Amino acid sequence: TEACLSAIDGSGALNAFVHNTPEMARDMAKAADARLQAGNAAPMTGIPVGVKDLFCVRGVPSQSASRILDGFLPQYESTVTQNLWDQGAVMLGKLNQDEFGMGSSTENSAYGATVNPWKLDDGVARTSGGSSGGSAAAVAADLCLGATATDTGGSIRQPAAFTGTVGLRPTYGRVSRWGVIAYASSLDQAGPITKTVRDAAIMLGTMASCDAKDSTSADRPVPDYEAALTGDIRGKRIGIPREYRIEGLSDEIDALWGQTAQMLKDAGAEIVDISLPHAKYALPAYYVIAPAEASSNLARYDGVRYGRRAKLGAGDGVVEMYEKTRAEGFGKEVQRRVMVGTYVLSAGFYDAYYNRARKVRALIKRDFDQAYASGIDAILAPTTPSSAFALGSADASNPVEMYLNDVFTVTLNLAGLPGISVPVALDRQGLPLGMQLIGRPWDEGGLLNLAQAVE
Ligand code: GLN
Repeated sequence: TEACLSAIDGSGALNAFVHNTPEMARDMAKAADARLQAGNAAPMTGIPVGVKDLFCVRGVPSQSASRILDGFLPQYESTVTQNLWDQGAVMLGKLNQDEFGMGSSTENSAYGATVNPWKLDDGVARTSGGSSGGSAAAVAADLCLGATATDTGGSIRQPAAFTGTVGLRPTYGRVSRWGVIAYASSLDQAGPITKTVRDAAIMLGTMASCDAKDSTSADRPVPDYEAALTGDIRGKRIGIPREYRIEGLSDEIDALWGQTAQMLKDAGAEIVDISLPHAKYALPAYYVIAPAEASSNLARYDGVRYGRRAKLGAGDGVVEMYEKTRAEGFGKEVQRRVMVGTYVLSAGFYDAYYNRARKVRALIKRDFDQAYASGIDAILAPTTPSSAFALGSADASNPVEMYLNDVFTVTLNLAGLPGISVPVALDRQGLPLGMQLIGRPWDEGGLLNLAQAVE
């Protein structure tokens, strides 16, 4: 804990941690020591972790990187963080992210962007991905041993790929969403970012639970994920979806994909060509459904219930209060999503956009169901179409350019499936690249075991 706290003190240039809690950390570390001495330590006891800003931690600023939550101190604890503290994990502080999870570069943050700790010497400040860019950068830079994150459309896996870390998004319902500041409720799921697959297994086992406070959390026992790491993957069938071989995929990533498949084959798995015919519609469907749910979730920030209220003029009434508060509290990308979401849900366009996207979502889910019914155990694909890009390189006038980053990640969110990004190589520039394994529902154990074979 002390080593992490001093590393965090020296890490200001990365802008990964946005609120530090050193006193809390030291108290929790002392309690963990006592627990170790008493002989009742759990696997996470004494392990210092960072927490993505959008997890409510009692008494600690929890703003989802938004100005609209300035001054908000939660009165309650998210179930995920409570589970970690119950097991003796140590809270180091809150980590940067895109505002409300909306983004792929952590540039949409009220705290400013996080810098990728890789290749700091060549004068190019690169993104650590998003939205969980702070979590990924903190783990990669050894500021903490693991971090909590959330993945609505790739926000655990893409930052993990960009920083050479392991990012696991569990099956929808595996982890409670209670106390996690909502983005798109039918897609949001929390998971760990860690240095190794084994760490991910241990941390997921602590984060996951069935929770009466989240009706979508699953009433299933949490298996021993570490015990699932048998190292034996013989006979496993791995699907390679041909639709993921998109136009413009770099030779380097294509070659890496083949090499990773070969590694699995060498370890005794069987590689099978599969088709997910509707995967090509995932990105547009996601960018209708996620903003629709976000526009509804974000209606609660009205200047009354949480955080910030704009200064009002003499003649201002309640409508002016809403307008001014939301105009100054929400960043540009969040405003764009609220407008898109409100539009696709409006009476005149509901059928044309939102309902159609829901139908596409059902077809995407069916593609996966059919692949798994045919005996496939997991699917292998790249996590991202490129390695980490330079901060500021995206064209601000063309938000779709940023959305295209999510082309490989959003599909499984629409189907509620688990996925893991594992660092497999460095590219020609010396930056990490990740490959993604997509699993059967509830088979995080099998997925982690396969991931370890390519780690
Ligand atoms: N980049 C995607 C978005 O902006 C995914 C974000 C996420 O998973 N939270 O919606």
